[in-house]
Amino acid sequence: MSEKLQPVRGTHDLLPADFARHQHVIETAQKVAALYGYARMDTPIFEFSDVFHRTLGDTSDVVTKETYTFTDRGGESLTLRPEFTAAIVRSFISNNLQQLPSPFKCFYAGPAFRYERPQKGRQRQFHQIGCELLGSNEPLSDVEMIALAAHTLRVLGLFDSVTLELNSLGDAASRAAYRDALVEYLSKYKNDLSDDSKARLEKNPLRILDSKDEGDKKIVAGAPTLHAHFNDASKAHFDAVRAGLEALGIAYKVSEKLVRGLDYYSHTVFEFTTDKLGAQGTVLAGGRYNDLVKVMGGNDTACIGFAAGVERLSALIESSYKTPPVQLVAVVPMQESTEAEAWKLAQALRGEGLAVDIAYKGNTKKRFERASKLGAAYAVLMGEEELAKGEVMVKNLADGSQTPVKQDQLVAWLKSR
Ligand code: ATP
Ligand code: MG
Repeated sequence: MSEKLQPVRGTHDLLPADFARHQHVIETAQKVAALYGYARMDTPIFEFSDVFHRTLGDTSDVVTKETYTFTDRGGESLTLRPEFTAAIVRSFISNNLQQLPSPFKCFYAGPAFRYERPQKGRQRQFHQIGCELLGSNEPLSDVEMIALAAHTLRVLGLFDSVTLELNSLGDAASRAAYRDALVEYLSKYKNDLSDDSKARLEKNPLRILDSKDEGDKKIVAGAPTLHAHFNDASKAHFDAVRAGLEALGIAYKVSEKLVRGLDYYSHTVFEFTTDKLGAQGTVLAGGRYNDLVKVMGGNDTACIGFAAGVERLSALIESSYKTPPVQLVAVVPMQESTEAEAWKLAQALRGEGLAVDIAYKGNTKKRFERASKLGAAYAVLMGEEELAKGEVMVKNLADGSQTPVKQDQLVAWLKSR
C-alpha cells in the first residue's frame, strides 16, 4: 500500500454533497426517458472481452488502448464495460428480447471504465446515462431519439449551453465508395499524417476524419466529403431526419467531420457539445448502429441510441443546482427519565416516513446545538410533564417558537409543515 492513501488515478469518490447532484442528473434523465417509453435496465459491469473487442472496432481508441481487460481465475478474458451499447445488445440477444414487440427501448445509468489519460472531464471510472432503441430504421426514430436527448438537456437547464452537431455516415455502400476516394486523397499526404492515422489509413481511414492531431486536422480539411458519395437511400434517410428535426424546431448544425469514435455507426450520428468544459466539450453523443446486432449473432435489427457522461453533465449544472433542503426532525428527551420514550417516538416517526435524528447522549443544550447544525427544522421535546398529558412540545428551530402537540397528532402535524 502506498504511503499516502489515495484513490486509483482517474477515479473519484462521490462524496454526499456531489452525489446529490450526480443522482439528480441520473434521475432527471430517467424521468425524461420514461416519457418516451424507455424503462431502465442494467447489465453486469464486466462481459466476455469479445463483447467489446469484436464490436467496437479493432482500430478504435477504446479497444486499442482504453479497455480494462483481465483474465479471471477461471482463465476467461473479461473486460470492464467501456460503454453500454455493446453490452445492451449482448443482453438483447442472450435474453431473446428480439421476441418482444419491436422496437425495444431502454434507459441505462451506471459506471464505465476506460484506461485514458486522466484530465479534467476525463476519468478512468466515469458514469454514463443513455438510451437505446432496437428495432427501427425509420428516420422518425432518429428524430425522436435526438428529441429525447435534447429534452433531457433542457430539463437539466443546459439547453442554452449546448449545440447539436449532426452528421450522417450513410449506409455501408456509400461508405465503401467514399472510403476509396478518401484513401486516394490521404495517401498523397501519407508521410505527414500522425502515426495513429498512418495505421488507420489501411484499417479504418474514416476515423482519420475524427483525429485530434493538429497536423491531421489540416490535411483532413481538404479531404473529399462523404455526403458527395451518398447513394439515394443514404441521402433520403438524412434528409428525412433533418426535416423531422426542423418540424420539431430542434436547431442543429451539420458537421461533416463528425464520425464518432466507434466502428459500429451508420447513417445518423450526433453530439451535443459545449464550450463550457474546456477540451472535453462533448456531453452527449449518439448514433445509429444498424449492423451491430447482426455482427453479434442476432437478427438483423436496426438500432439507434445515445450516451452522456454524468460527470460532465453534473459539472455543467454545478453552479445552478441547489441541494434540496434537509427534511429532518430532531427528537430531544428533556430528562433522562424520558429517554426511552424518546427513542420509541423516534422509531415511530421513522416508521411513518419522517427523517429523525436523536443524539446518543448529551444534555439538552448539546442536543439542540446538534439539531441546528444538522439543519433540522423542528425539535420534538419529550419532557415528563408533556408526556403525562400525552403531548410533546414542538420547537421551531428557525424562530424558537414552541407549540404543544398531542402525540397522536404529531405525525400529521409534522407532515403538514
Ligand atoms: P471523447 O471524444 O471525449 O473521448 P468519446 O467519443 O470517447 O468521447 P463516447 O464513447 O461517445 O465518448 O461516450 C459518451 C459520453 O461519455 C461522452 O460524450 C462523454 O460525455 C462521456 N465520456 C466518455 N469518456 C469519458 C471519460 N473518460 N470520462 C468522463 N466522461 C467520459
Ligand atoms: Mg474517448
